[in-house]
Amino acid sequence: MTERTLAIIKPDAVQRHLAGRILQRVEDAGFQIRAMRRLHLSKPQAEGFYAVHRERPFFGSLTGFMSSGPAIVMVLEAPDAIKKWRTLMGATDPAKADAGTLRQEFAESIERNVTHGSDAPETAAFEIGYFFAWIDLIQ
Ligand code: UDP
Ligand code: MG
Repeated sequence: MTERTLAIIKPDAVQRHLAGRILQRVEDAGFQIRAMRRLHLSKPQAEGFYAVHRERPFFGSLTGFMSSGPAIVMVLEAPDAIKKWRTLMGATDPAKADAGTLRQEFAESIERNVTHGSDAPETAAFEIGYFFAWIDLIQ
């Protein structure tokens, strides 16, 4: 079944000029890029996006990093898109990510790990709605 997920090319990857290579991998994997925009999150906007992690010890550092520069947010569409994109990204910690994954290849640390992906249909719906309007996603 065709599914949508929210993907982010995080500020570390944009700053290091890795966006083009990551987008090539997205297309090579067969995703449709249904919507895309570049934006520089404020700290409160990053805190809202990661609200589920607000009690975690890394929350302050993570939201500081995510608001440190521009990011590219996009809606990816494919059969089983949520799992498919998380598989392409690899594990959160690049030291544990499988060979050939984006995080294994490009990430500098568990925090500066180049990409984000939704982890379930409910989070995908929240995260897509956080950045894109309903009208942007009607074919
Ligand atoms: N993160 C971190 N330290 C940790 C765990 C996570 O800095 O110990 C950061 C990292 O950038 C990660 C984000 O917080 O991508 C969200 O964490 P999550 O567990 O949701 O990982 P993801 O779903 O991105 O793989
Ligand atoms: Mg997550």
